[in-house]
Amino acid sequence: MIYFDNNATTQVDPAVLEVMLPFLQEQYGNPSSAYSFGKRTAKAVNTAREQVAALLRCDPAEIIFTSCGTESDNTAIQSALLLDPDRKHLVTSKVEHSAIIKHAEALARRGYEVTWLDVDSEGMLDLNALERAIREETAVVSLMWANNETGALFPIEEAAAICRSKGTLFHTDAVQAVGKIDINLSKLPINFLSLSGHKLHAPKGVAALYVNRKTRFNPYLIGGGQESKRRGGTENTASIVALGKAAELAGAALREENSRVKALRDRFEQSLVDSVSCAQVNGHREYRLPNTSNLAIEGLDSEGMLLLLDQRGICCSAGSACTAGSLEPSHVLKAMGYSSDRARGSLRFSFSRFNTEAEVDLSLQIIPTTIERLRSLTRGVLAA
Ligand code: PLP
Repeated sequence: MIYFDNNATTQVDPAVLEVMLPFLQEQYGNPSSAYSFGKRTAKAVNTAREQVAALLRCDPAEIIFTSCGTESDNTAIQSALLLDPDRKHLVTSKVEHSAIIKHAEALARRGYEVTWLDVDSEGMLDLNALERAIREETAVVSLMWANNETGALFPIEEAAAICRSKGTLFHTDAVQAVGKIDINLSKLPINFLSLSGHKLHAPKGVAALYVNRKTRFNPYLIGGGQESKRRGGTENTASIVALGKAAELAGAALREENSRVKALRDRFEQSLVDSVSCAQVNGHREYRLPNTSNLAIEGLDSEGMLLLLDQRGICCSAGSACTAGSLEPSHVLKAMGYSSDRARGSLRFSFSRFNTEAEVDLSLQIIPTTIERLRSLTRGVLAA
């Protein structure tokens, strides 16, 4: 199998698995227990907190472990809304993940007002539009750091500064950015940041929310006093330990591995653009994640293409995994102004440090011929 769908999820790094296993076996103590058997797991959770904080360059006390990126996103928004019930307006973009979009839509049904910011044809945000959208009653602005479909990077530093100058809380969904680009929270006026373990070679079902130490916080999951009373629920110790290790490895790999991954992605992408007629890159070629390539291939049915590539052992994606299975064209590509046909003819390939040159070579033999096969099949059907 050739796995080019690392924005959907990633393989667990063997070194990550190794450190988490003892916490599924002999180290099963509850971190809240008073005896040393429990305290050992509490210590491991705090080491993981330090590792995640080191990757983001923030204070370990600013990290809250959660169950998934979706929970982190929901928690940040809910916390911001609870701070001042009179502020009933939020700002986000049209290209966010469903963890933000569906939540904002649900809030709109409950009487909140949402401003949906547009993007341009390259997936870029207009900061002037952001500035204009913020009002006195804006409770929170939520903008993703990196787009899961195109890899497009929003100018988060500038967006955060605008929000700070207007006295509005700022959340960024950095689920796709963490571990792929350098993030230095010590220098940024960000109130909340979400990340998720399974996008950076930790298992699924563990994530974190950064809450700036000066930001007032309201818990979303209310229960026990875990996470310094900020998130009830017995800690998923094995997965938290795994997330800590994954963060450490991501930090160590960031520069070298990401330039290797970027070179793989660029070679793959350029070769397809050169060899496949009417293939184009969707989104900005520079301001994007080093691992993501979203390609529009004229006349292609991406759903059919996924099936044919699956038969040849290649995993990639049409739109985001969370909406796969539905025939709706990607909301991200639509927001970029692309036609439904272009959106339906688009494929996302996303790489990781586990991908190799040999996989790229092999896929470059398979993909162009598969596209031609599908195109001639489609022509045959249309002619019949
Ligand atoms: N935000 C973005 C940008 C994502 O890509 C994803 C997952 O695909 C999420 C949030 C949700 O993360 P999780 O699957 O951990 O809930």
